Amino acid sequence: MPSQVFFGSPRQARLEAKETLPAKLDLILERLHLRDRVKGETVMIKMHTGNNIVYSTVHPVFVRRVVQAVREGGGQPYVADLHWDTAGSEQRGYSAEVLGCPVYPASGPNEKYFYEHRRPFKNLQDWKVAGLIQDSSFLVNFAHVKGHPSCGFGAAFKNLALGCMAATTRSAMHDAMHFDPYWFPEKCPDAAVRRAIVESCPFEALVEDKENPEQLHLHMEQCNQCGRCLRAAPEGSLKIDAVNFHSFQEACAIAVDLVLSTFAPGKAVHLNLATHMTPVCDCFGFTSMPILPDAGLFGSDDIVALDQATLDTIRPLRLIEENIPACMEVHTREGHPFRWLHGPLKDPYKVLEFAEKMGLGSREYELLDVFPVVKPERASLPYIPAK
Ligand code: SF4
Repeated sequence: MPSQVFFGSPRQARLEAKETLPAKLDLILERLHLRDRVKGETVMIKMHTGNNIVYSTVHPVFVRRVVQAVREGGGQPYVADLHWDTAGSEQRGYSAEVLGCPVYPASGPNEKYFYEHRRPFKNLQDWKVAGLIQDSSFLVNFAHVKGHPSCGFGAAFKNLALGCMAATTRSAMHDAMHFDPYWFPEKCPDAAVRRAIVESCPFEALVEDKENPEQLHLHMEQCNQCGRCLRAAPEGSLKIDAVNFHSFQEACAIAVDLVLSTFAPGKAVHLNLATHMTPVCDCFGFTSMPILPDAGLFGSDDIVALDQATLDTIRPLRLIEENIPACMEVHTREGHPFRWLHGPLKDPYKVLEFAEKMGLGSREYELLDVFPVVKPERASLPYIPAK
């Protein structure tokens, strides 16, 4: 049976507050029965508070409405994010005074408060789930949707997968992309050829190891899989391979599985705000121009259905190519616009394939618009001749 995803369109027919996204958030929270579900619960509102001078994260106006709903339902809310992002978050409007609840670093101020969970995957053995995440009894996962250089896009999955793990696990999750070998030095013994390979990449994604120049490293985040380097590399010496890129997405699915396993069934809701979607993650510390038109607000109990519905809604939108930073390049126009931006092997749907196989939810969904846009009907005007 398809999962329900509640949707608030960014469009409005009339210039009235009730047709805007914060008001539609209230309707979505009602449809999710949030107030009825949080009595006596310690409610963690997990969001990305951004970094430095970011201004495109979930605006405090939205967060405050969630806080209010939780309080009205008899829950005890607090906002949490990584220490790296909560330190100084008041400069971006995320303070107790504005939000109406405290803002905490999820794994403590030194990233030393966590619970370990064993799940061998490539280079990862024990995963460190942030202490405050596991200590809370109810989760509101409130994500800002944007592009992401490791996996194409960031939304509900990414907000939990990286945002609920302590620093060493986050780092190891990125390292999972390097677990399967992609550089075979014995096939390229010539230093001049190695240099030519490095120089063939316009994005400086390939670098020589400082201590062992025979070894090349691929910075996956900078690589859009254009294939130029493969033309410079001797046969068999370099792979630009799906297994490396998809490892990160599989690691994200595992991390979300572990995070959600710390909550009892029915004790988590997920929200995606798809406005001012930037090319890269909010952790970069700045806000770039939006690269897609606003797509709206989404809410569901099913995290897989939520990200699927969000991606599907964005898919037909126009990638605003004039807003893409000059250091990036669109070399494919197949599939999802986030794939155009970050390359064919960073397919944003991949994490959902892994997650559905793990039983985290369904990619089939029913999209329910909480306030359909109805064009105002007007009496036809009589003919008015031009002057
Ligand atoms: S595939 Fe393109 S972006 Fe990636 S390392 Fe090679 S040249 Fe650079």
